[in-house]
Amino acid sequence: MSQEHHSVIIAGSGCAGHTAAIYTARAGLSPLVFEGNEPGGQLSLTSDVENFPGFPEGIGGYEMIEGMKKQAERFGATYEWGVITSMEGKEPPYTLTVDGDRTVTCDTFIIATGARARRLNVPGENELFGRGVSSCATCDGAFYKDLVVTVIGGGDSAMEEALFLTRFASKVIVVHRRSELRASQIMQTRALEHPKIEFAWNSEVVQVVGDHEKGTVSGVEVITHPNGAPSQQPEAEVEKKVIPCDGMFLGIGHIPNTDFLKGVLELDEEGYIITRKGEVVTQDVETGLPGVFAAGDVVDTRYRQAITAAGMGCKAAMEAEEYLGARELAKV
Ligand code: NAP
Repeated sequence: MSQEHHSVIIAGSGCAGHTAAIYTARAGLSPLVFEGNEPGGQLSLTSDVENFPGFPEGIGGYEMIEGMKKQAERFGATYEWGVITSMEGKEPPYTLTVDGDRTVTCDTFIIATGARARRLNVPGENELFGRGVSSCATCDGAFYKDLVVTVIGGGDSAMEEALFLTRFASKVIVVHRRSELRASQIMQTRALEHPKIEFAWNSEVVQVVGDHEKGTVSGVEVITHPNGAPSQQPEAEVEKKVIPCDGMFLGIGHIPNTDFLKGVLELDEEGYIITRKGEVVTQDVETGLPGVFAAGDVVDTRYRQAITAAGMGCKAAMEAEEYLGARELAKV
């Protein structure tokens, strides 16, 4: 049986993946996109996108991502359900395993598998995600004008979210499981000194309280223990209460979707793909392997915006096109 081969394979169907598909499809390269575990990526979980240029009234996250997919399909991109579970090779053709049993090969591979926000895994969190529960203050903060929000976590992400949310919310309550923050000193100071930010120390959320039908949050139920880590303390010593709020923001870190790349590509200690030009580490799209490019949240630990992911998807596509062109020329 002959091996299924493509010039361009794209893993992931968030903003970066779709943009790479639009550009490579318009270049006549007929990309094949494997949509991954979360088709549409994090954007599809966001209710309204108000900061993507060109949509003065805002646009629904799902609507936007569907529009991108249709746009790519119009130019000849093909989408398939499927998760790439392994990658082999040090140069093209690369062999990819899809869903553990099918293999395909490609000359160029664009990795746009994204990063998922770490979740608490408590009741109410999934049910109200995108409707009162969020992991992106920049995306959703403006919906909480004059309202009370909680931010979960004690690191730089949580402090950054809390500080950003003070622009809109009347009060921001940081819920942290210990009595000391993990965040950098400067971020700690800014948050601790901010008049709109309060802290619920030694507290862990055990439930998001709200109306699942209407999609509204009314509070977070927390357990508290004076020594911290309340979920690890004897139940009798733990206090339980509800902190009333209109929204909950997760700031407990992200997990890049790169498990299938371990030992194949250079990753940092958290699993993000390291991109480089020559020996210089960049916020760019070139990986250490020829013809393999990476775009969006799977690389970017800093900006994590739809517009920056789209920009990286565009760059990855243009690099792939140039790489394929140079290979053709080399054959002549
Ligand atoms: P992080 O530093 O790992 O902090 C995660 C926080 O969430 C910690 O306070 C942790 O509590 C808490 N947490 C984790 N799992 C939890 C759970 N299941 N329940 C409750 N709390 C939980 O992650 P991050 O803040 O995303 O930062 C990641 C990296 O990016 C860091 O190196 C950071 O400096 C960097 N970063 C920098 C900036 C900036 O400079 N502007 C902004 C964002 C991120 P414990 O403290 O008890 O472990």
